Amino acid sequence: MKLCVLSRNPRLYSTRRLVEAAKARGHDIRVVNTLRCYNNVTSHRPSVHYRGEVLEGFDAVIPRIGASVTFYGTAVVRQFEMMGVFPVNESVAISRSRDKLRATQLLARRGIGLPVTGFAYSPDDVNDLIKMVGGPPLVVKLLEGTQGVGVVLAETYKAAESVIQAFMGLEAEIMVQEFIREAKGADIRCFVVGGKVVAAMKRQGAEGEFRSNLHRGGSAQLIRITPEERSTAVRAAKVMGLNVAGVDLLRSNHGPVVMEVNSSPGLQGIEKASGKDIAGQIIQFVEKNAKEGKTKTRGKG
Ligand code: ADP
Repeated sequence: MKLCVLSRNPRLYSTRRLVEAAKARGHDIRVVNTLRCYNNVTSHRPSVHYRGEVLEGFDAVIPRIGASVTFYGTAVVRQFEMMGVFPVNESVAISRSRDKLRATQLLARRGIGLPVTGFAYSPDDVNDLIKMVGGPPLVVKLLEGTQGVGVVLAETYKAAESVIQAFMGLEAEIMVQEFIREAKGADIRCFVVGGKVVAAMKRQGAEGEFRSNLHRGGSAQLIRITPEERSTAVRAAKVMGLNVAGVDLLRSNHGPVVMEVNSSPGLQGIEKASGKDIAGQIIQFVEKNAKEGKTKTRGKG
């Protein structure tokens, strides 16, 4: 097959592993810098251009779109969809998962376990908002933050009120969430490929840190997940419409709750923790599923 990885940096671990795994399985694969694609949006013959050449003949595209380039990146994926190229994750699914509030609403609609979550616009509603989600301690989150930046724990009523008001004053989009204390600074990353959890790891935040992000000094270890956790992760990826996803769960007193569904999950931590060839599993998924025009939304989103 002829494959294309959309990635800004061919040296990143995840990108390198996808290239390696595809070559090992006899495929032709190429890394294309998402931000250097320029596109002709025409109804008869939409095309993607790259450094003076027209990108043609790909059987599938593997998007690795960083959070800072979601808008442009998803537009490029959509362009490939318009050309009938099979995307490992569709543009609409990527957009859904990038917006934490939209993702939370979609998951809630399908009855998936979540921390009690609320949002408001006006500073006049902050008191009621705090009460509505069960009072402090609360977590206040910037909707577009990643790697734990913009996730704040407010232990007291006064802290919650002032943090929420400060974010509102900056016109930052936020949501407010019940703090899952019993998770003890750990979360579970379930790596889903094609409707199956292919590996899972527990990430523990550094001492005194409630955020478990590896980028914040957290550590990872292999873990056995329960059937309920497995099905929650698989359903969450399905609701988002993601074929490849990193679903982050917390173990709460009321069962597994979903924190986030990541559409470009990193391979380094999970391959190291599990010892598995996850890149190879992604390529196998592509082999089984890539067909021209086989997208659910066909660039309609
Ligand atoms: P990001 O996308 O920036 O990683 P998350 O929403 O995943 O943001 O939050 C980062 C980390 O903070 C989570 O992995 C989790 O460890 C911790 N965390 C986030 N929300 C809560 C919560 N409601 N209760 C307990 N811990 C939380």
